[in-house]
Amino acid sequence: MKNFNPIAVETITIKFDCSCETEVVETLSDLPIANMYADNVADSEDTDEHPIYCLDCGKEYTCYVYVNMYEGNLEVKDENGNEVDVEIIDIQYSEEITND
Ligand SMILES: [Zn+2]
Repeated sequence: MKNFNPIAVETITIKFDCSCETEVVETLSDLPIANMYADNVADSEDTDEHPIYCLDCGKEYTCYVYVNMYEGNLEVKDENGNEVDVEIIDIQYSEEITND
């Protein structure tokens, strides 16, 4: 599981190695959005799943993205549900982000 700051995040680029040893790089857009106005953390949660295919061997992976009002996490699992070691290599935030 990799942690990221979910506030105003627009895209996340991740990288992992497929079992065929091909490096898979994927940019996730259309990310889940936490409800920052929720009364508690549980109510603020949102999740999403993104299918990712290895361009070399076609193996299917799923990236699960979880966000709440405090943090974001993501993980990648293979078709057998085994977690794959994933790295976040780039995160783009919306320009509207405010520093407070
Ligand atoms: Zn592959």
